[in-house]
Amino acid sequence: MNVLIINSGSSSIKFQIIEMPSETWVCSGLVERIGQQDAVLNYKTSATSLQQTESIKTHKQGLHKIVELLLHSEKGVIKSTDDIKVVGHRVVHGGNSFSNTTAITTQVKQKIKEYATLAPLHNPGNLEGILVAEEVFPSAKQVAVFDTAFHQTIPEKAKRYAIPNQLYDEQSIQLYGFHGTSHQYVSEKAIAHLGLKNSKIISIHLGNGCSMTAILNGQSTDHSLGFTPSNGLIMGTRSGDIDHGIIYHLVNTLNYTVDEVKEILTYKSGMLGLTGYNDLRDIEAEAEKGNRDCQLALQMNAYRIQKYIGAYAATLNGLDAIIFTAGIGENSSLIRKLVCRNMDYLGIELDDEKNETKSKSLREINTPVSKVKILVIPTNEELEIAKQVFQLVK
Ligand code: ADP
Repeated sequence: MNVLIINSGSSSIKFQIIEMPSETWVCSGLVERIGQQDAVLNYKTSATSLQQTESIKTHKQGLHKIVELLLHSEKGVIKSTDDIKVVGHRVVHGGNSFSNTTAITTQVKQKIKEYATLAPLHNPGNLEGILVAEEVFPSAKQVAVFDTAFHQTIPEKAKRYAIPNQLYDEQSIQLYGFHGTSHQYVSEKAIAHLGLKNSKIISIHLGNGCSMTAILNGQSTDHSLGFTPSNGLIMGTRSGDIDHGIIYHLVNTLNYTVDEVKEILTYKSGMLGLTGYNDLRDIEAEAEKGNRDCQLALQMNAYRIQKYIGAYAATLNGLDAIIFTAGIGENSSLIRKLVCRNMDYLGIELDDEKNETKSKSLREINTPVSKVKILVIPTNEELEIAKQVFQLVK
């Protein structure tokens, strides 16, 4: 069965076809800069790789372009749109309504729309992708996979904020958590690898967005992103944890508008705010050349991760493994080294040589005596979505 996975953002559509249950990759691609004259369409199969720049005004037009390629006599991978039996949609915010992958109905679409108030950057684009896919693939089942679903197991003591009850009861203000498909995918891989019946794991997802999850016996019990994807670790352009008193100071004393503060904390902070660069490769290269801001930013980044490891190890009352994943977690041996430094009290001991080994598969990079396994596991959110969708419709 061909599963088409769509990750539709505010101005982009990522797509992939995976043949299930063999988990065989068929094709993937990305339309970026939707709404602009110079939108870019990337498309890849085992036989073809292309990139074209053209005007793509709407998501609908973008998805039609994708379908043209999928059906193309030479470059295509399907004969008719009916060959797509199911479309799996990544949806960022499912609030408290969805703890599992769900077939899309009118009510589900209504809920996704309602939760746009909680994820204004993501849910509207996700919904648009669903509406367009329903038109383009009328005979396919449409299924939603929520980033927040994996975190529905987080207990109240961890997900509630200490604010007036009414804000929770009536306004649903609480920790929701994000990157759920990634944390679920890598933690399931880790559990299978460790072969443990009971397991205490911390998964560390370090990409453009960064988050950590405490996972007890396969279930999320705490998570570093919160009500929105702003909390916790230092990210590419997001500050992560800050004292909220800073916001009032910026607004009331320094006369920034609330929108300006949001812009600063979301797009101008994090590694970019500290160094002028948001790509970790540039920051590492600059630090190597002696750039003091870059050196400090790397130290701060690793220190924040260490604090969360300590906190989560305490809440889990022990630790079997930590997992590094996503662009930075999988590729930056330097961040992994800084994070694992001086963690022997917790039983985390890195093998420097193994840490430098490059590989696209799961690997252990701890020393033989390390009590805690240190795992590098490439994430694959699309495959996790395909697996969950297939489970639901098979
Ligand atoms: P997204 O959250 O958009 O899915 P990724 O998981 O692809 O992001 O991570 C992107 C980030 O990974 C880049 O911004 C870059 O900082 C980092 N990255 C990718 N490759 C390397 C590398 N070899 N060394 C250090 N950092 C890297």
